[in-house]
Amino acid sequence: MNSPTTSIKELGKNRLLPNVKNIIPVASGKGGVGKSTVSANLALALARTGAKVGVMDADVYGPSIPTILGITQKPLTENNRIIPVEKYGLKVISMGFFIPVNEAVIWRGPMLHKMVNDFLNLVDWGELDYLIVDLPPGTGDIQLSLCQTIPLTGAVIVSTPQDVAWNIAQKAIVMFDKLNTPVLGIIENMSHFVCNHCGKSEEIFGSGGAKRAAENLEIPYLGGIPIDTSIRLTADEGDPVVHKDPASRPAKEFIRIAEQLVAQVDLRKSQGETKKVPTKVDFLNQPQIQIEWNDGKKSVYSPKKLRAECPCAGCVNELTGQRMIEVNRIPDTIRALAVHPVGRYALQIVWSDGHATGLYGFELLRKLTSSLE
Ligand code: ADP
Repeated sequence: MNSPTTSIKELGKNRLLPNVKNIIPVASGKGGVGKSTVSANLALALARTGAKVGVMDADVYGPSIPTILGITQKPLTENNRIIPVEKYGLKVISMGFFIPVNEAVIWRGPMLHKMVNDFLNLVDWGELDYLIVDLPPGTGDIQLSLCQTIPLTGAVIVSTPQDVAWNIAQKAIVMFDKLNTPVLGIIENMSHFVCNHCGKSEEIFGSGGAKRAAENLEIPYLGGIPIDTSIRLTADEGDPVVHKDPASRPAKEFIRIAEQLVAQVDLRKSQGETKKVPTKVDFLNQPQIQIEWNDGKKSVYSPKKLRAECPCAGCVNELTGQRMIEVNRIPDTIRALAVHPVGRYALQIVWSDGHATGLYGFELLRKLTSSLE
């Protein structure tokens, strides 16, 4: 039964995996920029500090983490829980463990959503300081599902220096911003090439693009990784450079970037929530719906008007923006039956007319405050 007041103070807290302190997705705008290589080496660099680290390979279209970490065994199941494979001190789960090699994955959104859910619900991650999530490239269903299912500490964006890669990477940044997931920083991979013979550094793709863009977007720049044969060879061998040769120059770059990342995580935690988020929703005590925000503001909404503003694809034509729901067909007696927080960015309202697909983003709710009060 619903309590008359739904406290959503746990918004931003991780109820699904309470023993995992930080969940950090690693994203890129396009494939082949070295996102998986960076994810694996970053995870190993974090583990070197004594932290407990897990890696969730959610790159369903090209799961390369098992290859990079040299894992050939499958995870075991105990009491209907999947036990992650342990390698180099990391707990690892990958879609690659569950799909036959050479089989193309052609999945629709709901199946991808289920995979993310299973990886969070069914895997026995135990206690972790960091869960690194290797995302597929782009801004698709898996990214959305992850942000909706669990509050993320913040995302790391990997880009190569070419403008083209960087422009695409910006789309990922915009997506995380919309989903109220902080971007902890940007890593420029393949930022330069250091000649093994003469030690001269060459900027093959041009360099500094990610750093400049990070400054413009006021996002932390975590550092650059050189293009280096040892990074590729060690990844191909299944023993990444940070584990195989931690004293090497490229390994030291990964270790330095991991330190920057830890600093950003700590900074975010000390700052607390900087965006405006609801802390309490009261929808059963009175005819109106009341929201209390973390900045002290209180908003009051008429259920009928809020129902009419439902932003779901069934109520608004996504191409034309035309509203398909007629206000005069919404009963005056409409009520919210339940309100659930979705990730860090929206509330899902279950209405008494049976409609529940609308996710009311916090920004939308703040915008509607004055017009609907
Ligand atoms: P993504 O996950 O973005 O698709 P991968 O991590 O699979 O990219 O990397 C693509 C290829 O580039 C792999 O062969 C990998 O070993 C190589 N690679 C990635 N980063 C570097 C680097 N800094 N130097 C050399 N090779 C790299």
